[in-house]
Amino acid sequence: MSSVTTPVSFPTRLSPSRAKDFVQCPKLFYYKTILGRTTPQTIATAKGTLAHTAFERLFDAERTERTPEHALAFVRPGWQTMVDPLRAKNGVPEDSVEAEIRNATNLWRDDIEAGSSREASLLRQAEEYRALFEADSKEEAAFLLATENVVANYFDIERPWNFDPVGRELHLEATVGDVTLHGFIDRLDHYTTESGEERWVISDYKTGKVPQARYLDESFFAMKVYALLLARTRGVMPHSLRLLYVGAKKPEAIQVLEVNQHLLEITEKKMNHLWAEIVQSNDHDVWETKTGPLCNWCHFKPECPAWQK
Ligand code: SF4
Repeated sequence: MSSVTTPVSFPTRLSPSRAKDFVQCPKLFYYKTILGRTTPQTIATAKGTLAHTAFERLFDAERTERTPEHALAFVRPGWQTMVDPLRAKNGVPEDSVEAEIRNATNLWRDDIEAGSSREASLLRQAEEYRALFEADSKEEAAFLLATENVVANYFDIERPWNFDPVGRELHLEATVGDVTLHGFIDRLDHYTTESGEERWVISDYKTGKVPQARYLDESFFAMKVYALLLARTRGVMPHSLRLLYVGAKKPEAIQVLEVNQHLLEITEKKMNHLWAEIVQSNDHDVWETKTGPLCNWCHFKPECPAWQK
């Protein structure tokens, strides 16, 4: 599927995913951020989005209702909201799970302005999700089953009836030195230890495989930025960052990185350094190509100058 171009101007703020693009390859950043090119959804991204819906909505329920069955009930209606985002209220039973998801996420036809960029983005994504499978195909059934397995597996990793998150899909933004950073935290937890110590913990759900040990530090790239954002916006030092590999088994399924002042300082320096490089690339309109194994998964490879003969 070809990508779509949504013309944008030079960004005024930087998210960890866009920063990661630049680190991987400045040209990739150029395609996605400067030209506004999108990359099509894949089965892996669809699974991630759908599982996130179940985990996020699970915590709407009372603690005693946070069972595997309750979480699993969000998967198939959640998929409906992804492939058909703009339904009218009178077309969906009021007491259905689909209506519950749409109410929580303002995903009704009347909530979305006709002709808006949000409408265009939702419709494009829906078309891409539908294109992943033939209607009612075996592949779609297998995809839904695989997502349900991941959601069910989560209950081997955590006990969601034992705690109440203080934030879900929490947007944070702060100017740190010369760069404005922003991002969405999947989940923010706060608790007090038996010794009376208050702890803030940032958790991120991952539906992919647990990375090899040598790539683990890289996997915390976005989380370190979230820690910095939390410290700057709320004045609290997060105790730790947790990557929850919801499809994996314990103990590998939970990867933890403790946070300290030094880590925040390094992250701040790194993000400012990156921002300076991005500004410089833009000023000179020079976006270098950085080839490597990841080029094989790059949507822009067919047109990338580094791969032209
Ligand atoms: S194919 Fe490789 S070098 Fe080209 S834009 Fe993609 S990541 Fe960069």
